[in-house]
Amino acid sequence: MLGLMMDYPLTIPSILEHGARIFPGKEIISYLPDKTRHQYTFLDLYKRSKKLMHALRYKFGVKKGDMVGTFAWNHYQHLELYFAIPGAGAVCHTINIRLSSSQTEFIINNAEDRYVFVDATLVSLLEPIASLLPTVEAYIILNAAKDFSTSLSNCIHYEDLISDCPDDSAWVEVSEHDASAMCFTSGTTGLPKGVLYSHRSVCLHSIMASLPNYVCISSSNKMLLIVPQFHVMAWGFPFAAVLCGAALVLPSSLLQPEALIKMIIDEKVDKAAGVPTIWQGIYACLKKNGHSSLPLKELLVGGASMPASLIENYQKDFGIKALHAWGMTETSPVASVSRLQPEHDALSEYEKINRRALQGQQLPFVELRIVMEDGVVAAWDGKSVGEIQVRGAWVIGDYFKTNNRESFSEDGWFKTGDVGVIDKEGYLQITDRAKDLIKSGGEWISSVALEVTIMAHAKVKEAAVIAIPDEIWTERPLAVVVLNEEKDLLSPEEIKNFLATSFAKYQIPDKFIFRQEIPKTSVGKFDKKRMRQLYTEGKL
Ligand code: AMP
Repeated sequence: MLGLMMDYPLTIPSILEHGARIFPGKEIISYLPDKTRHQYTFLDLYKRSKKLMHALRYKFGVKKGDMVGTFAWNHYQHLELYFAIPGAGAVCHTINIRLSSSQTEFIINNAEDRYVFVDATLVSLLEPIASLLPTVEAYIILNAAKDFSTSLSNCIHYEDLISDCPDDSAWVEVSEHDASAMCFTSGTTGLPKGVLYSHRSVCLHSIMASLPNYVCISSSNKMLLIVPQFHVMAWGFPFAAVLCGAALVLPSSLLQPEALIKMIIDEKVDKAAGVPTIWQGIYACLKKNGHSSLPLKELLVGGASMPASLIENYQKDFGIKALHAWGMTETSPVASVSRLQPEHDALSEYEKINRRALQGQQLPFVELRIVMEDGVVAAWDGKSVGEIQVRGAWVIGDYFKTNNRESFSEDGWFKTGDVGVIDKEGYLQITDRAKDLIKSGGEWISSVALEVTIMAHAKVKEAAVIAIPDEIWTERPLAVVVLNEEKDLLSPEEIKNFLATSFAKYQIPDKFIFRQEIPKTSVGKFDKKRMRQLYTEGKL
């Protein structure tokens, strides 16, 4: 039809063009692995990303569609890679630094990374497998100290690579449908699988996640990204922050609660993102050291359920609002956020906390549905439990290099493997991962519901619940509990009584194991696969 809008591509370089033009002086602060503080501006980010893009194209001969890996902490050079690699038409493949060496080897080979940018403090993780990585032509070392040495061959220092490059080369022209970035799933159930994001999906995710009803990111914010840049692109927030002009604070390897609290105070951080275990550790440290206030106004939490008790503690003790965001590597990741609506003002504090503990409402251009065991799509009634399926503008169409239709419904929705309900107001509640649900005497028991309730006990720091085989009931729940203080005494009977007000008798675990810690995955979630294995081996 004549007289339509322009066909203007949504691309990652356009995000940086906008950020640097409109917010040139906005700051990006990095706390580097050697504990030094680095600060520069969006304009510096722009110029150095251009230099790096030039180096990739003209020194390395990186072409459209090539894979370039990053094996790095959160800091400004990693951010430059986020823009320069897609700006060269290539794919920024962020590699999880916490995987086993065989998984790392598999991922780099599966991606066919041509170059890997690696932090000096992490090279020891790549050295033992370098001979098994035939596609990697060179390693580029970030943040190397003067006395740095490595057995990796073909190494170049990052600053040496970009120092003599111009900062005004044109970005490579790409279509918005071209691949721009890739993350692998954390591989807790088999081999990791690649999820390839397009320029368009990254742009749309950045815009929608930033809307006021969701994460609400603007040029008034200063965001601390505790979530690693290798975990679903730090949940996409680096792109969203540059787009919206939010200042960034990046902590690299300084992830201890004391260090993070100091950053929040010194840098006047008002928004921060991390997994529940991080927030649990920070809360305990704040209480221990007698802090009474923080500049932080909102914390974004995702990757696992944050117990309502912890959401309440942050609100009550520090006036900090915790917002649940739900999603997966396959959904870029933000698909829903638990911000309250004006009609919730009338709710009691208790009801508000419980609503914020839900996984929230779907973002525009993402659709959620619940499909029950019999294949029927459930009503949003807050009762009908089933698998969560999702489709949308930043939801996976298929895994990298596969044609794996098992993960999709016949009508093309992605089957998340999460189980939950959606209420009348559209708030999603995750009750479990399908594989973690416990089926006892034919009845389903939610491990997540038990965990968050046990963690509400004042003496409990962490709790994870797994299914163990049972001759009579097929499966029974087993709770693994970490106490706040070693000297705290808490008996299984006391926990059972504590649970009795919220759970039917058959849902309450018969067995409790007290441990110093709970095994965690590479991105800080309870590693239930490992726990089941330890239990089978009699080592839990
Ligand atoms: P990943 O791909 O590593 O980000 O893991 C995605 C999985 O983490 C989801 O399928 C959920 O099981 C879980 N998850 C993510 N966000 C939340 C949340 N807010 N509450 C509960 N579980 C979550």
